[in-house]
Amino acid sequence: MTPSSATKGTRRRQLSVDDLVGRARDGDARAVARLISLVEDASPSLREVSAKLAPHTGNAQIVGVTGSPGVGKSTSTSAMVTALRKTGKRVGILAVDPSSPFSGGALLGDRVRMQDHATDREVYIRSMATRGHLGGLSWATPQALRVLDAAGCDIVLIETVGVGQSEVEVAGLADTTLVLLAPGMGDGIQAAKAGILEIGDIYVVNKADRDGADQVARDLRAMLSLAERLEGGWRPPIVKTVAQNGDGLDKLVEAIDDHRDWMNEHGELAVRRRRRARDEIEAIAVTALRERFGDIHGDARLDGLADAVVAGESDPYTAADEVLAAL
Ligand code: GDP
Repeated sequence: MTPSSATKGTRRRQLSVDDLVGRARDGDARAVARLISLVEDASPSLREVSAKLAPHTGNAQIVGVTGSPGVGKSTSTSAMVTALRKTGKRVGILAVDPSSPFSGGALLGDRVRMQDHATDREVYIRSMATRGHLGGLSWATPQALRVLDAAGCDIVLIETVGVGQSEVEVAGLADTTLVLLAPGMGDGIQAAKAGILEIGDIYVVNKADRDGADQVARDLRAMLSLAERLEGGWRPPIVKTVAQNGDGLDKLVEAIDDHRDWMNEHGELAVRRRRRARDEIEAIAVTALRERFGDIHGDARLDGLADAVVAGESDPYTAADEVLAAL
């Protein structure tokens, strides 16, 4: 069937994983979207997708954007895309909503600022909902990042939408973590409480057009100077921005570049990526184990073991060893 005579639906289905990966690498946004859907839905081809992407990954700098709701994450992300596009970079954006079960375009549809980039072929925007996914962010999000990486993105911005509890999780997925603060949000106290002084590689004081921004920057500098840092380690810069009009965004993009260069020079990128790959392997293995355990759990055998424990003929550790041996 020629593409022109095929409906969109059948044409999609006919594309092999090889085709999709090839097209994604050529900059076909629909192939990128399709691949992300395949990994997100844990489709039967997930393994094949993962294997075929692998040789093409490792180029993108993954940048996590964290901060309390209302601080300006979405505005800043859009402004960063504008600044990054000026340097000719291909950009991916992954907006993760841990509170929603709905993925796809809907979530970003109302995030109007992203519309500025909707027609740019060198910008991929994707939202993912992780509620109800076993392990939440832990396995689906890294796979989506791999798709964007393999699709030739130089930089992928990952941002959580809505609730702000996943900051540390986002930091765990990123090469470079941005922590956004803004005046008037009690951020000083929040910073100390939420442990963000440990996760930030770059601190952004957004809404620098408002009173109090300098104070936030000063408080932050004081708190950071108290935090323990390794000798010769990276010193997180503080960048002031007005995301709404783009002020300070070039400096922020420079700081992101500097951090990547520093990580490359000091071997830190390799360290972080290894840690991330380990986490990924563990998450996938644990999920697989849990599924297999579930298979056995349905088995009358587990009831038999439980009865033996109840009757005092066995103990839970011995029984657990038997279950593990069966895995
Ligand atoms: P998010 O919840 O962290 O994603 O925050 P948003 O990007 O949705 O921004 C929250 C509000 O702050 C919106 O009303 C923005 O227009 C506003 N905002 C964002 N950046 C700035 C800024 O630099 N200055 C000012 N004055 N307002 C901003």
